[in-house]
Amino acid sequence: MNPNQFHPVFTIAALALMPTVGVSCARPAPPRTDFVMGTVCTINLGKKGTEKLYDEAFARLRVLDALLSANSETGNVAEINAGAGLKPVRAAEETLTVLSTALEFSEATNGAFDPTIGPLVKLWGIGLGSERVPPRGEIDQALALAGYRKVDVNRTAGTVYLPEPGMRLDLGAIAKGYAADEIARLLSSRGITSGIIDLGGNILAMGEKAPGKPWTVGIRDPQTSQGGAVMSLQVANRSVVTSGIYERFFEENGRHYHHILDPSTGFPAENELLSVTIISPQSIQADALSTSAFLLGTERGLELVSRYPDTEAVFVDRDLGVRTSEGLRGRVTALDPRFVLHDDD
Ligand code: AMP
Ligand code: MG
Repeated sequence: MNPNQFHPVFTIAALALMPTVGVSCARPAPPRTDFVMGTVCTINLGKKGTEKLYDEAFARLRVLDALLSANSETGNVAEINAGAGLKPVRAAEETLTVLSTALEFSEATNGAFDPTIGPLVKLWGIGLGSERVPPRGEIDQALALAGYRKVDVNRTAGTVYLPEPGMRLDLGAIAKGYAADEIARLLSSRGITSGIIDLGGNILAMGEKAPGKPWTVGIRDPQTSQGGAVMSLQVANRSVVTSGIYERFFEENGRHYHHILDPSTGFPAENELLSVTIISPQSIQADALSTSAFLLGTERGLELVSRYPDTEAVFVDRDLGVRTSEGLRGRVTALDPRFVLHDDD
């Protein structure tokens, strides 16, 4: 049959659908916000947003959360952790992709970024409601279990083995980035070319806001968890991800303890930085790099970022000085005069 010819049954079906189609064209579904992956997530598809698309995107986020979360009782990473010292565990394709990428960043940072830091993350309990400064002995025990080189990833068998009892993967530094890429892929396959995927501040800006018009993305005040935007930049088809000391933290005896832990000390990473923002075509890379660059500090962080094509960074230090990678010079707008851009060093 000529595909351009209407079969009568299709015509009737099309007519019956018309009122619904008409309404959904006239009024897009509002942006959707929900709590998933341990954080507040918003997806905004503007005029192209439909309830069905938002349903589908959030359903996928929940599946990825269950698979990749170290804190889920039943997920794939939880299964791998439960098999530590016992047996190789079948790993989902998603887990293998995220873990392999994480291990590449461990190599690139000489082990500063380490997805086997799970026992230490659990011990500190930051953001898990069990925060405390652990005794030195317990820190040492948790550190002894870490070590990314020990992880046995068998791509052929599709398994992951953690060889010591008590070892524990934590993909929290990279999972949201991967999830944002996955949602963008899903939405692209449904014909979406423009929108914002915001997974707790891990932003992926799909396409442009409007033809010829980039998105404006803000960088939040890294001195407080409720801060507004202190800088902004324009992006198209980029992910913008920040790691900083005010995302998850607690205070004890006047000291601030945040959630990015240094495997060489067992304590929250301490250097000149308040935050690092990465701008990159891939969100998984932006997420892994923001945590990695934070751990390495400004100089070594800038060097790491320079190895990745089309990837830029903004480093904010404790004196509110701001350093950017070369490709961003002149492209960051300070909205708050306390933040001083060092564009020329
Ligand atoms: P992010 O907010 O992306 O910078 O990731 C921080 C999260 O990554 C923490 O909440 C931990 O779950 C995990 N994490 C902490 N320290 C490290 C580390 N040195 N390497 C890899 N992941 C880490
Ligand atoms: Mg990260």
